Amino acid sequence: MDFIEVYYSPKQVSCPDSASPSPRKPAWVVADWIAQDFPIGIVEPLPAIRAQLAQAHSQNYVDGILSCELMNGFRGRQKEVADSLAWTCGSLLSAARGALNNGLVACSPTSGFHHAGVESGYGYCTFNGLMVTALALKAEGKVRRVGILDCDQHYGEGTAEIMAALSIDWIRHVSQEHWSPDDAKPFIDKLPEVVRDFADCDLLIYQAGADPHINDPLGGFLTTVELAERDRIVFSVAKSIGIPVVWNLAGGYQEPVSRVLEIHRNTMAACVAEYV
Ligand SMILES: [Zn+2]
Repeated sequence: MDFIEVYYSPKQVSCPDSASPSPRKPAWVVADWIAQDFPIGIVEPLPAIRAQLAQAHSQNYVDGILSCELMNGFRGRQKEVADSLAWTCGSLLSAARGALNNGLVACSPTSGFHHAGVESGYGYCTFNGLMVTALALKAEGKVRRVGILDCDQHYGEGTAEIMAALSIDWIRHVSQEHWSPDDAKPFIDKLPEVVRDFADCDLLIYQAGADPHINDPLGGFLTTVELAERDRIVFSVAKSIGIPVVWNLAGGYQEPVSRVLEIHRNTMAACVAEYV
């Protein structure tokens, strides 16, 4: 590839008063990657539409969140958060289409998905863009099976809840806590096999979380070098088995935020090294 497609619009950014930097991160990582002179191309995403959100969530929840009547994942009702949500989900969905089209990889600089359940938001997550994306592509016949490799430090219980509620058997959902969550060596050693197990999927959604870092206040057990090795393994094994990857940012709470941006920079560096 000549460059990595990054599906970014300023509309996916919001700035709620929150301990999490995640809603601001899309703008920060994109600026950082441009400053690093990475070979990336910014692609304007399409926003997810209400009907797509309502495939993963109840219609009441979708309507209540978008009208600011229900509390979002930041425990507030900020209009700017509500207005950003179709764009964060739409960024992942658009990037997933991009990865399916080029057969290799695309990036969605987004966070805040995996704790969101059928009609609940929690932990900085309001809508589950992972499930919105998988369900939209499935409904269009673009995929038969989808893999979700969630390497955020925390369990994606919202993803699991939606899968159970819809009796979904065509998504392979693997959270990093399923294997040796607190020990780097077994994690790194097992990871190639974990990625290879997605070989029967048509798309891998990879949450390249920064909060498994050993210095993260909500993490973690991996050093900066080990996180970079994690990313290298995911991209190289996925490419070797021929499964397109769409990846995003997920959590990361170190301060200053430059430490989080360094981890996401390393993920993009690993992506460029593998695919460009
Ligand atoms: Zn997390």
